[in-house]
Amino acid sequence: MPLDPDRLAGMTRSESGPDGGSYSVRQVRGSEKAYRCPGCDQLIEPGTVHVVAWQNDHILGARAGVEDRRHWHRACWQARGRRRPAR
Ligand SMILES: [Zn+2]
Repeated sequence: MPLDPDRLAGMTRSESGPDGGSYSVRQVRGSEKAYRCPGCDQLIEPGTVHVVAWQNDHILGARAGVEDRRHWHRACWQARGRRRPAR
């Protein structure tokens, strides 16, 4: 499903990501499908409140960053610095 970065902009906040870069972060109520959380490598079950994060400074531009977005457990996003040290 395509997402428009401009449409999402008002509902997001900026935080530094696991690699230290600038990310847009948005909390979502849950989706119909399961996603694999990059923080713990476990599935986020459908309907689970979680966080979607994407890179602001994606090398291919903002739209590519949104298309490359990742779904995280809220706790895993909060702990991203500890669990996934920057390489
Ligand atoms: Zn997780």
